[in-house]
Formats: sequence, C-alpha cells, structure tokens
Amino acid sequence: MSIYKDKRKATHTPDGYELLTLESGPVEYDFHWHQGAYWSKFLAEMRDNKRFMGVKCPQCDRVFIPPRKVCGRCYKEMNEWVEVSDEGDLQGFTVVRFPYIDPNTGALMEVPYTGIWVDLDGADTRMMHFCNEHDESKLEVGMRMRAVWEDEPRPTSIHAVKYFEKIE
Ligand SMILES: [Zn+2]
Repeated sequence: MSIYKDKRKATHTPDGYELLTLESGPVEYDFHWHQGAYWSKFLAEMRDNKRFMGVKCPQCDRVFIPPRKVCGRCYKEMNEWVEVSDEGDLQGFTVVRFPYIDPNTGALMEVPYTGIWVDLDGADTRMMHFCNEHDESKLEVGMRMRAVWEDEPRPTSIHAVKYFEKIE
C-alpha cells in the first residue's frame, strides 16, 4: 500500500506526454544493529528490572543516561553504574502531527504523538522519550513526569517504557 499521494495539478507534459509515476512496490526493511556493551546493559535493565541504569564519570561525577563509555568533557572511561530514578522534570516537548516511520517497527507512528526531553532524578544528562499527553497547552517545562513501564513482555528497546506521564 502506497502512502504517496500525487498532488500534481498537471497530468501531461506541455507537449502531451502523460506524467508518469513509478512505484517501488512494497518495500520491507529489516534492520539489525548491535547495541554494544553499554546500551545492551541499559536496555536489559529496562526490560528485566524496570529501571534506568546510567554511568558516572570518575572525574566530574556527572551521571549519563542513556549511558556512554566516555565522558565528553573529561575523556575518562566510565565504569561506575548507578541507578537513576524513573521520575524527573520535563525539559522540552513537541507534539508531532506529521506521520513518521518508527525505526523500531518500520510502521508509521500514530499521530499526534509527543516527543519529550526529560531530566531524570539522579542524572545529569537529558533523555528523549514520549509522553501520553498530546495537548501542548497541558504541558509545561519543569513539570514532573514518571515512566510508565510496558507490561510483560517488555521489548528490548527504549519502548520498555510505554511513555512518560505527568505526575499530578
Ligand atoms: Zn567527566
């Protein structure tokens, strides 16, 4: 099924040839990519234990979530894992009303959806996720948010958390 809608007004070239459209036909993409040691641990902890694990820099003490191997400021390798809260402060959001292909599923995401940036308690970096509130007038930077975990089975992805919701 094509999602392409032909909005051209002309149907023929100035000298009478039909304006043609070529279709690729159904296209299926099958992506596999390795998550590496840090993201594997991060995602497995989300899937199996419903918790966020970050890493702490041995020099500046900043906690990174999602985790990464090296602190970008200090160039120090980080190996101290710390649990970070699944609650935090909303730092930014955008309500998306344009259909977009979810790279995790290959399917179009239902619109509207709300992308958010959240500072989890205990972390010094910002994490991107989604929120179940799609009315921007009901969202405000600084408001408290909590993760709502997916039921069993939880996927091995960032979607082990369904979305974040406002703490009323
Ligand atoms: Zn550092």
